[in-house]
Amino acid sequence: MGLEDDAREYHRRDPPGKIEISTTKPTNTQRDLSLAYSPGVAAPCMDIDDNPEKAYTYTAKGNLVGVVSNGSAVLGLGNIGAQASKPVMEGKGVLFKRFADIDVFDIELDHVDPDDFVRSVAAMEPTFGGINLEDIKAPECFEIETRLHEEMDIPVFHDDQHGTAIISGAALLNAVDISDKRIEDLEIVFSGAGASAIATARFYVSLGAKKENILMCDSSGIITESRSDDLNEFKQEFARDVPEGDLADAMEGADVFVGLSVGGIVSPEMIRSMAENPIVFAMANPDPEIDYEDAKGAREDTVIMATGRSDYPNQVNNVLGFPFIFRGALDVRATEINEEMKRAAARALAELARKDVPDAVVKAYGDQPLQYGPEYVIPKPLDPRVLFEISPAVAKAAIESGAARKEIDVEAYVERLEA
Ligand code: NAP
Ligand code: MG
Repeated sequence: MGLEDDAREYHRRDPPGKIEISTTKPTNTQRDLSLAYSPGVAAPCMDIDDNPEKAYTYTAKGNLVGVVSNGSAVLGLGNIGAQASKPVMEGKGVLFKRFADIDVFDIELDHVDPDDFVRSVAAMEPTFGGINLEDIKAPECFEIETRLHEEMDIPVFHDDQHGTAIISGAALLNAVDISDKRIEDLEIVFSGAGASAIATARFYVSLGAKKENILMCDSSGIITESRSDDLNEFKQEFARDVPEGDLADAMEGADVFVGLSVGGIVSPEMIRSMAENPIVFAMANPDPEIDYEDAKGAREDTVIMATGRSDYPNQVNNVLGFPFIFRGALDVRATEINEEMKRAAARALAELARKDVPDAVVKAYGDQPLQYGPEYVIPKPLDPRVLFEISPAVAKAAIESGAARKEIDVEAYVERLEA
């Protein structure tokens, strides 16, 4: 396979791996070294001892995110463990740097037990401005994130949950607009009840969807109250008092299909059974629940389709979210990434897709027409405007919701980002 061998070569080329540490201050003279380290370094230490906020003034903390994993649910590879997950976590660091100039320490922890994991991550608070939890399996990921969110005074964000929720949430806001539906009326079917599906369903409710209009399916079919015995508490949250059935039963008459499960489990017949102008987000990777062409070709009316794939329109790609959300959160020294900040990110993404796309962005995507409509409901990751729109929206929401430790002038901030 060309891609696999190229990837091996890319990673092993000297120096091995994808990231390194570099210094940001002069280190040429004896004087420089005595400022950088002993004895000069004692002065900032004492200041931070007096006022811990000074850590943001004197250290790299404010632009440093910990990408932390135990390797228990890595990409499509499953539980490959901490060591084998390191290329992925370094890769996440590459994306943080490339898209938002945020520095990352990738931290791979050999912890299976959530208690151990939580204790280790919580103890790293002095080091970081924020924590991006990555590739931790469900249902432990929910407990781990909730506990760390409570214990830590810096943002803790499990990207596999909220990234997908926010970006597909933006796509939903625009799909609803284009298909003239109302979010509160949508009948929504989820395939999948894991990390991303539970968080996405919760987030759609946060955006205005009705929880009682959501029907969730796992590998055993519709999650009903009658199944409560074998359901974890997160599935129970979405259990409905309806007859048992399978995904095909659930999809009949639905306005929206959200696939966060496995590839190839939805047929054109199932798409045909949906309501008029259906919204189909088939986001299993690498193969969607139904292929783009099969879903579009299943009906005469408009199917608004999104997938996780870059070779079709409307790619739900987490890189549209986490770099810019953390940028905004870090720049106001946010204590958390709360619901208001997530909604602000989704709304800003949705609004950006409604604006004209610069020629340079169109060129970067091989001249495919990028104009607000069924084939373009979310911005493209390489669109530089994403930084200028999402980060300020998140920063503003942090200030307004009381999560910011530092007030900034948002207009001046936009200008600074654009410079
Ligand atoms: P996860 O926590 O392992 O959850 C997978 C869920 O799929 C489980 O609830 C599982 O059911 C369910 N499932 C498995 N086979 C099924 C079937 N035949 N019918 C219905 N449901 C089935 O995984 P995740 O992290 O949420 O990710 C799920 C999928 O979404 C993956 O393919 C991932 O690549 C994709 N994803 C895409 C994006 C993106 O495009 N941006 C982002 C996140 C995730 P049980 O609970 O019964 O085992
Ligand atoms: Mg991930």
